[in-house]
Amino acid sequence: MASHLANIFGTEQDRVNCSFYYKIGACRHGDRCSRKHIKPPFSQTILLPNVYHNPAHDPGCKMNEAELQQGFDAIYEDLYIELCKFGHLLELHVCDNVGDHLIGNVYARYEWEAEAQAAVDNLNTRWYAGRPLYAELSPVTDFREACCRQNENGECNRGGFCNFMHLRLASKELVSSLRASQRLERRLNPAAQEGGGGGWEPGKRNGRERSASPKARKPERDWERRA
Ligand SMILES: [Zn+2]
Ligand SMILES: [Zn+2]
Repeated sequence: MASHLANIFGTEQDRVNCSFYYKIGACRHGDRCSRKHIKPPFSQTILLPNVYHNPAHDPGCKMNEAELQQGFDAIYEDLYIELCKFGHLLELHVCDNVGDHLIGNVYARYEWEAEAQAAVDNLNTRWYAGRPLYAELSPVTDFREACCRQNENGECNRGGFCNFMHLRLASKELVSSLRASQRLERRLNPAAQEGGGGGWEPGKRNGRERSASPKARKPERDWERRA
């Protein structure tokens, strides 16, 4: 019995735990869901809900595809550089869904749970692009499972209202240059890897302190403390 429950945990057959929350970190029923949304006490993944605002969804948007991509790349880079300050960032994903529970969601997965926790603690005191940020640990472990396969094949007829992730992708060149600079930074500054051992105190390594580093590639005009 116990192993049966372990096998179905978070799947469609699980009558207790919500499979959407478990797989995607967000469910359209929110707090009113009839199944449980169990917040993980530890996780490598964090969720920042409703961060990205896609101007293409505004009626009257006059930007062309190239301008939209450029704007998105700038935001992706901003997020990537900031999120790298808390540890070894393995994945960064931004949702382009429009349903309330997935719109603009940003997910980041770290190598270590302590890094994810440090990111949550810090980001919950911050603003981004003029709005307060909210951060939480997320149960999502496998983004292949969380993403809509039909959308990847250009065949999802639910569009932005789909309950699986429809990701907005940064340009390939940007992603590889960000990865390369993270590798370089980690090689030049091994202190940044201490978090992996789980031994450091989050207070010692907040965003402000490290943003003074000459390696920060541009001024973080959009990032503010929430006073
Ligand atoms: Zn649910
Ligand atoms: Zn879909």
